[in-house]
Amino acid sequence: MYPFVIVLLLVVVGVAGVKLWNHRRALRRLNRAILGRQSLLREDLPGASGQDWDDLCHQTNELIGEVNRLQQQRTGQLAQLEATLGSLQEAVLIVDSKNYILLANKALQAIFPRAKNILGQRLELVLQSVEFLNYVDAVRKNQAAPQYEIEFLESGRTIWVELTGAMIPSLQADQGAWVLFVLHDITKQKKLELVRKEFVANVSHELRTPLSVIKGYVETLVDGHQEIPVEDREKFLRTIQRHTDRLNSLLEDLLTLSRLESTQPGMKPEPVVLVDLVRSVVEDYRSRPTSADHPIALHADGSIGSLPVDPLKITQVLSNLLDNAIKYTPKGSKLEVRMGVRGSDVEICVRDDGPGIPAEDLPHLFERFYRVDKGRSREKGGTGLGLSIVKHIVQLHGGRVWVESTLGRGAAFYFTLPLRR
Ligand code: ADP
Repeated sequence: MYPFVIVLLLVVVGVAGVKLWNHRRALRRLNRAILGRQSLLREDLPGASGQDWDDLCHQTNELIGEVNRLQQQRTGQLAQLEATLGSLQEAVLIVDSKNYILLANKALQAIFPRAKNILGQRLELVLQSVEFLNYVDAVRKNQAAPQYEIEFLESGRTIWVELTGAMIPSLQADQGAWVLFVLHDITKQKKLELVRKEFVANVSHELRTPLSVIKGYVETLVDGHQEIPVEDREKFLRTIQRHTDRLNSLLEDLLTLSRLESTQPGMKPEPVVLVDLVRSVVEDYRSRPTSADHPIALHADGSIGSLPVDPLKITQVLSNLLDNAIKYTPKGSKLEVRMGVRGSDVEICVRDDGPGIPAEDLPHLFERFYRVDKGRSREKGGTGLGLSIVKHIVQLHGGRVWVESTLGRGAAFYFTLPLRR
């Protein structure tokens, strides 16, 4: 009797074990199908028979189908969004609730060249800016300013971006809201603003020194003109005169620059025999009482005919360059003006054999108010605007201007004028 019971028990346990093992295998297959979003066939679950398993298989397939449909719908909506935003002039960026980049249009790549193939990457890895990430957080908390300016360092250069951020509903039902950013490159405006601020600061600074000197001396003269000895009074008046002249030339240069930079720079071009014009300017300098201190040699290619230029403005270019060559070189320095044809241009060079200009100053020389030696420039009556005026006039004629110099071995200022315009 006993052995029979034991055998029966073993059979029951064996059958139950096999069933259990089959069900576990079937569950694992189900799991794999769900994760891989692949529909199941009933034969994929051998050993798991019965109505319950049929229902489970059927419902799982329905679920997988629904997930796939939603996924396709989402991909379609994203593609649609991408197509719409991709052609916008404004840069657009969309991140999901975990800061993974979902969309970045072409305009964004124009601002950030490194932002190529960034879809799916985390925002922190692409735009490494703490300020930007703080702004993202603020947008999520609904505490962000409607427009926010951020400075980025992109491939070694600073760019300014105006940001607007807004929450948008996610296209994935199970996810938190996405954030959409519109970025506007305002680097140009920022630079202009900076230049304007610098310019105003420079002008104020330049005006303040002579004005305060004049004010000081005038007050002294007003208060004590009875007691001040005559020779001191004359000294004071001469100082006032010198500083008034300085103010005058500063205002004149500023007016000239502002006219040259305006939409109507007052150009009066006419056919001019350039060699004659250059020669007459050089003759004018040679006839000055101190001309022996700075002898000027002229080498001109006589075949250069007439060019359409504004003679007064080209005279100013030459005068500014010759004045500088005289101001910034010691007595006895030799000057040379050379002109010839280079391709489709006439090239004119004003050279001196003076102390020259340090290499680090050369790229800035044509900027407004840039001086190598501030004290020396002011002492010589310089305004720091002469070369800037030269650059503007030459560019208005369609030419180029540049400087070559080696410290201790003189300086050569070149400009070109196109033969035909
Ligand atoms: P400034 O009114 O000071 O002369 P410029 O714009 O004409 O202003 O010149 C800018 C600066 O360039 C000058 O302050 C001077 O330091 C330098 N510079 C110009 N020409 C020469 C030159 N021939 N040799 C040496 N330095 C020069």
